[in-house]
Amino acid sequence: MTSLDDLPLRDDLRGREPYGAPQLDVPYALNTNENPYPPSERLVKALGEAVMDVAGTLNRYPDRDAVALREDLAAFLNGDTPGADLTSARVWAANGSNEVLQQILLAFGGAGHAALGFEPSYSMHPIITGVSGTRWIDAHRDEDFGLDPGRAVAAVEEHRPDIVFLTSPNNPTGTALPLEAIEAVLRVAPGMVVVDEAYAEFRRTETPSALTLLDAHPRLIVTRTMSKAFAMAGTRLGYLAAAPAVVDALLLVRLPYHLSAVTQAVARTALAHGEELLGGVEALRRERDDLVAWLRAEGLRVADSDANFVLFGTFDDRRKVWEALLDRGVLIREVGPPAWLRVSVGTPEEMAAFRAALTEALKESL
Ligand code: PMP
Repeated sequence: MTSLDDLPLRDDLRGREPYGAPQLDVPYALNTNENPYPPSERLVKALGEAVMDVAGTLNRYPDRDAVALREDLAAFLNGDTPGADLTSARVWAANGSNEVLQQILLAFGGAGHAALGFEPSYSMHPIITGVSGTRWIDAHRDEDFGLDPGRAVAAVEEHRPDIVFLTSPNNPTGTALPLEAIEAVLRVAPGMVVVDEAYAEFRRTETPSALTLLDAHPRLIVTRTMSKAFAMAGTRLGYLAAAPAVVDALLLVRLPYHLSAVTQAVARTALAHGEELLGGVEALRRERDDLVAWLRAEGLRVADSDANFVLFGTFDDRRKVWEALLDRGVLIREVGPPAWLRVSVGTPEEMAAFRAALTEALKESL
């Protein structure tokens, strides 16, 4: 039997593990920051009809540039962020924002290039960077998981990376960045600046989106996804807003027909029902704030969260707590700084189960 070791695999891929949270069949899956609310029966019907409509044309390739979908996404962003003033020429979409990020790395990274991020942050940023042959530079967030603009500027000036990643709200900490920090980086970055806003819709109202900076900064890319607030993780649809020239660059590296006709039809239908899909966001925000307050009342440390998950700790042996929760049917994520755990915000019933399980788990691990 041939093993991986026998194959002429790229040297820099040797010893790597495939990325992924455990996909376990548990009563309470609170580990991948999904939206717990499934589409309504009415929407399921509309999605089914949309698929039926394209089913008869599946002998043909889809719209290679997904123009109608990009128009819908631009309209959504314009509604979300007054003054954004986006058109389809400034919006691009792919199979999840991970693929969007990969395309960005293919276009602006590669051998001889470097990307810098402020960790702890989304672990796919360094992974996609490495897989594209780009060098990763790990700059650090502050003690409280924020990012002091002066320190951020110093890191960018020292390393002069081709790409800077800023995640706001940040995964796994939940921390949102003030626009001043993003603007400070934009002023000194020699290359592209990617603001990953996968969780933007969950942010507290006082935090503006980086979309408002696009007009003044042609090298800014803001990435978004339909996987989180939009409750469409299974659709695999991520997107970005940027200058039209950035979209031109991504066209050079995207695979032709990368977004299937089914994906495009389903995503457009979801966008047409955006109000319903985003209807759970307010409840999730409230549930998050209640969870943060409860965890603090239990004497735990909790990072401020603008997202649909909460990072809490600190534990001498977080694996023990994670396992004690799993024993009770609650799957959360062992991720981020070593003493911390991350839990996604679910329905009130799921959160009650989490609280009950954690109360027992903490007693057990004392
Ligand atoms: N960015 C961040 C910060 C994320 O947490 C995630 C999902 N975990 C993604 C991007 C990718 O999401 P998707 O590919 O589903 O759009």
